[in-house]
Amino acid sequence: MKKITELRFENAYAQLPPEFYEKKDPAGFIHPHIIAFNGKLAAKIGIDPGEEHNPLLAEYLCGKRPIPGADPLAMYYAGWQFGVYNPNLGDGRALLLGQIVDGSGRGWDLHLKGCGASRFSRGFDGRATLRSCIREYLGSEALHHLGIPSTRALCITGGTEKIERETREPAAMMLRVARTHVRFGSFEGFYYRGEKESVRMLADYVIAGYYPEIPHGTKNGYGLLLLKTAEKTAETIARWQAYGFTHGVMNTDNMSIIGLTLDYGPYGFFENLERDYTPNHSDHFGRYSYVNQPAIGRWNLEKFAKCLKGLVDEEEIAGALEAYNTDFSSAYKKLMLRKFGFSKEKRQSLRFIEKTLGMLSEDETDYHIFFRSISKVKKNGSFMENPWLGSVSGKWQRWISEYAGELQENSPTDNERRKLMDSVNPKYVLRNHIMETAIRDAVERGDYSEIEKVKRIFENPFSEQPQYESYAGTSPEWAKGLVVSCFS
Ligand code: AMP
Ligand code: MG
Repeated sequence: MKKITELRFENAYAQLPPEFYEKKDPAGFIHPHIIAFNGKLAAKIGIDPGEEHNPLLAEYLCGKRPIPGADPLAMYYAGWQFGVYNPNLGDGRALLLGQIVDGSGRGWDLHLKGCGASRFSRGFDGRATLRSCIREYLGSEALHHLGIPSTRALCITGGTEKIERETREPAAMMLRVARTHVRFGSFEGFYYRGEKESVRMLADYVIAGYYPEIPHGTKNGYGLLLLKTAEKTAETIARWQAYGFTHGVMNTDNMSIIGLTLDYGPYGFFENLERDYTPNHSDHFGRYSYVNQPAIGRWNLEKFAKCLKGLVDEEEIAGALEAYNTDFSSAYKKLMLRKFGFSKEKRQSLRFIEKTLGMLSEDETDYHIFFRSISKVKKNGSFMENPWLGSVSGKWQRWISEYAGELQENSPTDNERRKLMDSVNPKYVLRNHIMETAIRDAVERGDYSEIEKVKRIFENPFSEQPQYESYAGTSPEWAKGLVVSCFS
């Protein structure tokens, strides 16, 4: 385990030509302090978790004091935003501080959000609100622990600075960690400028760093890069769908080249199965609604594939897009079968799943509580004590006996199935009100304890944690109308 001043940096991205980035130092806070620190993640990437107590840590992690070996830069990228191409995006308020190597030789990007303007800022202030940092910190960790590929969150630092948004709000910085922060949009900027050599160089960079199974420097390698990206994207979006997660801003600049959930803005989990659920208040047409995500994933992949023209042929593009469809559908099916506790992919079980999802979408039944509850149904039609099962009547009562019938046909023993189902249907879902409480405590009272507590609960979303029962329920009345905008 290394101290923050002893990290081994490789900084491979900084060795690409200058058109890939703007090198610049972060604009640190004057009086920084640590708001949250993820000791477990620190240990995973080779940083001594004891650094939490280093009195200078906040200065290092907000850019006030340079980290020895770091070579900070703002990454250039472009992207399709709500269907319109924008050639000039890039890290406008974030920097790739540097790329470290952990004890086992794995590389990690340290990417700091909210650390000042760059040449990609387009007139915005280069800062992030404490509110949005808390949402990303909690959201990205919660997704990771649900088994959904995501960037991770190492630290939030606060200062005394305030920034103008809808109101004047405290600023903060969030240090995120991922193998890479390269996006579809990182390729698009070069492609639309006609800089084919840069596209190829970036593809080589991604293959060498993150797809070691792909042979380097062969024409076929680029086709495989597209295919693997399609597979990873499909797998991640399948998980979003199964868990009722909506990203909110699926622009191509927010699409990770290794299929991570990237750039947390106005994301959310629905409560009832609401197909049109659109957590981004500014997305008036619902382009990035829950139900649209799989199709948008494909649209985005088509845009990415276009960038590789000349490196891959039409057949490879068609193959990768086809793989996206089949992989999405098989991953989603597999997850849903597990959520229902069915052992085999039987046509009858799939029909039953479809019918149940239809019923859920017409109903006020909480999607997550429903799945957590139904593992308690027994094959003989009775059920273990459970508040939801115990309270239903009418159509859901009939559904329970039908479900028991389906289980008789296609599931392991009651005990075995319950365990399997409880390991895929979370007890704890990061609903907006849970984050809102942590945000209000932090912003209004400078009390950060709720952030740590919520992070800890959501490290084990599938385990019963009886002392935290109140975090497992539906939203309270006061939180029903909470809205989230892009403006963060
Ligand atoms: P996002 O919506 O966070 O994915 O950001 C889209 C683009 O806007 C990216 O290029 C960001 O860097 C940039 N951006 C968002 N907020 C700010 C800000 N406060 N200052 C500068 N750039 C920003
Ligand atoms: Mg973004």
